[in-house]
Amino acid sequence: MLLMGAHVDQSDPIAEARARGAGLSQFFLGDPQAWKGPQVAYPGGAAALKADAEAAHVKLYVHAPYVLNVATTNNRIRIPSRQHLQKQLTAAAQIGAAGVIVHGGHVLANDDPETGFDNWRKAIDGLTIDVPLLIENTAGGANAMARHIDRLAQLWDAISASPNADRVGFCLDTCHAHAGGMELLGLVDRVMAITGRIDLVHANDSRDAFDSGADRHTNFGQGNCDPEGVAEVVSTAGAPVVVETPGGVEGQTADLEWIASVAR
Ligand SMILES: [Zn+2]
Repeated sequence: MLLMGAHVDQSDPIAEARARGAGLSQFFLGDPQAWKGPQVAYPGGAAALKADAEAAHVKLYVHAPYVLNVATTNNRIRIPSRQHLQKQLTAAAQIGAAGVIVHGGHVLANDDPETGFDNWRKAIDGLTIDVPLLIENTAGGANAMARHIDRLAQLWDAISASPNADRVGFCLDTCHAHAGGMELLGLVDRVMAITGRIDLVHANDSRDAFDSGADRHTNFGQGNCDPEGVAEVVSTAGAPVVVETPGGVEGQTADLEWIASVAR
């Protein structure tokens, strides 16, 4: 059976998983829009969360803050991004997480994307990666590192040169793919040909049109993603699935039920 769960509040990810009949939870360790943290809000802290999640058979995933951008040529963003990513990885290891998800980031409009790919390689060289680091495709950004398939190939080429490359995986987001301009049908094969692995699927419908560049998730049946494409992605990726959709327990449980109904 497909291992599934939702993006939830971090205060009790085990109870959140249980409420949704889920086997995993994903969460932020703090404010996703701030250069702060990470902080474990679970009563008893990191060690208690690790022990309780193991006992409850709930897998944990940490989503890094959105403000991080290890690709950028702006030193005042890139350097703290690396430092914060290390802190996220360290905290994730302390709670026994199965992975840390981070967005692919972007370079500035007039930058050579090659600089961004090299910045990624340098970041990975310098990190201590005790839990898998999963790079996620993004919906927008004219000069993004992981929005289009050709860029993803260049990114993977660059990071494959790092001795830490085997600690780096991929998180495929269906809303981001659709809004970023990647057709969902056949996408798993196209991605696998590049990365050789998909470690996690973010299954979300998209409020916006194909290739709009907008990142607005919605519940299945209410958006513009091709349902056949989403069904194929969750069925063939061979990876756990996280919904990052609105509606709390009710909305996300309905989305998980829809995925279970279409997964082959
Ligand atoms: Zn996502």
